[in-house]
Amino acid sequence: ERIISGEVNEQEISLEQSLRPQTLKQYIGQNQVKGNLEVFIKAAKLRRETLDHVLLYGPPGLGKTTLAVIIANEMGVNIRTTSGPAIERPGDLAAILTALEPGDVLFIDEIHRLPRSIEEVLYPAMEDFCLDIVIGKGPTARSVRLDLPPFTLVGATTRAGALSAPLRDRFGVLGRLEYYKEDELKNIVKRTAELFDTEIDDQSAGEIARRARGTPRIANRLLRRVRDFAQVKGDGSINLDLAKEALELLQVDRLGLDHIDHKLLKGIIEKFRGGPVGLDTIAASIGEEAETIEDVYEPYLLQIGFLQRTPRGRMVTPKVYHHFGMEVPSP
Ligand code: ADP
Repeated sequence: ERIISGEVNEQEISLEQSLRPQTLKQYIGQNQVKGNLEVFIKAAKLRRETLDHVLLYGPPGLGKTTLAVIIANEMGVNIRTTSGPAIERPGDLAAILTALEPGDVLFIDEIHRLPRSIEEVLYPAMEDFCLDIVIGKGPTARSVRLDLPPFTLVGATTRAGALSAPLRDRFGVLGRLEYYKEDELKNIVKRTAELFDTEIDDQSAGEIARRARGTPRIANRLLRRVRDFAQVKGDGSINLDLAKEALELLQVDRLGLDHIDHKLLKGIIEKFRGGPVGLDTIAASIGEEAETIEDVYEPYLLQIGFLQRTPRGRMVTPKVYHHFGMEVPSP
């Protein structure tokens, strides 16, 4: 498993929960989304209404689940959590919806993976807070309408484009999460270190932040590994030499790239003269699925300007040659 993967791994689930900020104030960065939510939450509370449905989208590990929890906290309601793949039949969704208390937040992670048949149950629930249930079969079947308590659906997805238009249109609030800036990640690292009771200096926090690929989950994971290292090799507090040595051992380079990124980038340089080259061709040449490259490897490389998408395929930029200490080829 890649240490720089944005996806959560089994062992860190409960730890992550303990690190979650609980209020908008504690939530670092994402100022646009945070600012919008602050206004909508205040307005809903003033009017004593439930908050409009919220769709959060962006790469894994940027804080979508955390925001859902914060929304519930700020509204003073409970949150019920599930995920697209976990809801298999309309009855599963009906059971969840009918168990909600008025005003509750229902959080559906990976909402783009909801089966279409379930989406259709969700539409009237979102729009009119009711369920249309079919009772019986064949000619005697009839439809019964069931009222639901008003609730706020918070949906999260890594691929907003994979959501059907009718579902997307039923969200009143859209929040697009961006990769975090280095100084924001640095503050997240410092906050987590404090929760861990670990001393860390400013430079070390910056070093971890720079390698965290704009992602709090990765920043916290790197911090944990550096902390282990500091405990074994030093007195437990983190300084720059120690942090660098630990990160070196983890094989995460100074921009947060690992061997898979290197393989991908060097592959394009060495086999395709830097591109442009089609996604499928790259995939075949390094033995990965095109979809994995597109969803997992590529987003961060595009973000830092190492890869470019062109109509004729992917291209590496001069930055990549500089990063590897290679000469930029003349056109
Ligand atoms: P997602 O649902 O987008 O995959 P999570 O909400 O599970 O991401 O966040 C992953 C971890 O990163 C959480 O444990 C949380 O502590 C931390 N985190 C995310 N966003 C922030 C933030 N803005 N400030 C502080 N910590 C954050």
